[in-house]
Amino acid sequence: MNHKKIIAFNWKMNPGSLKQARALLNVANHAGLKSKNSRVVVFPPFEYVFSYDFWGHAAKITKGAQDCFWQARGPYTGQISPRSLKQAGISWVIIGHSEKRIHGNETNLQIAKKLKTAVRTGLQPLLCLGDDAFSHKQGIIRTKQCIRKQLHESLSLLSSADIKEIVFVYEPIWAISAVSHGKTDDPVHAARMVSYLKELLVKEFRFPDSRVLYGGSVNAKTVSKFLGFDDINGFLVGAASLKPDQVSGIIRAIENNS
Ligand code: PEP
Repeated sequence: MNHKKIIAFNWKMNPGSLKQARALLNVANHAGLKSKNSRVVVFPPFEYVFSYDFWGHAAKITKGAQDCFWQARGPYTGQISPRSLKQAGISWVIIGHSEKRIHGNETNLQIAKKLKTAVRTGLQPLLCLGDDAFSHKQGIIRTKQCIRKQLHESLSLLSSADIKEIVFVYEPIWAISAVSHGKTDDPVHAARMVSYLKELLVKEFRFPDSRVLYGGSVNAKTVSKFLGFDDINGFLVGAASLKPDQVSGIIRAIENNS
């Protein structure tokens, strides 16, 4: 199946002002408008997610949120209601990001609950799966075991119809935020893991046309190295998504490679 490449910009807790956030959104929107072969999804922090002033009329942008709770609504202090997201026009949600797993002690079972509620609320989940540095150092067999376990546990509460609604991301934890530690993934290894995930989805979940993105310090310079691998259906981008020249450079590189 020939899908557009998905470019998912994860802004984390940035930028610090509505003015900067709108300027960045405009850059992504303008670059996206020139691109026929990409779908641009922006995941801003929550202070902007529910703000009409922020989203305005960015026609090319698909609206995303960085997380949601596993109950649609109810007495859960501090949680984000998936139903409220849907009502606010948000269509995508990141679930299982390694920073939530690490800093929020999120488990695969909690992720499974979130996925189930998100799908059944009509949100498009982007499920992040990734090996840690320890598994990575032990080699490809251990890395694959780690991903397979996360996949099975994260999908444990979902029907096969639910699973077909998910877009996956292979995002090795050790390759995230290379700006601070310098370690990035080799595109051949990244593509091998993306293909492995797709194989697992076919063989063990009867899901033949899954979409799997790659995430881990991708930027305008490195993105073309990953674009040679057809199995990679797009990218989840963190740090580079905060720099206007990187945003337009990534979208342009994808357009030129299509
Ligand atoms: C991320 O955290 O999802 C991510 C891909 O970040 P970065 O691009 O900064 O590694």
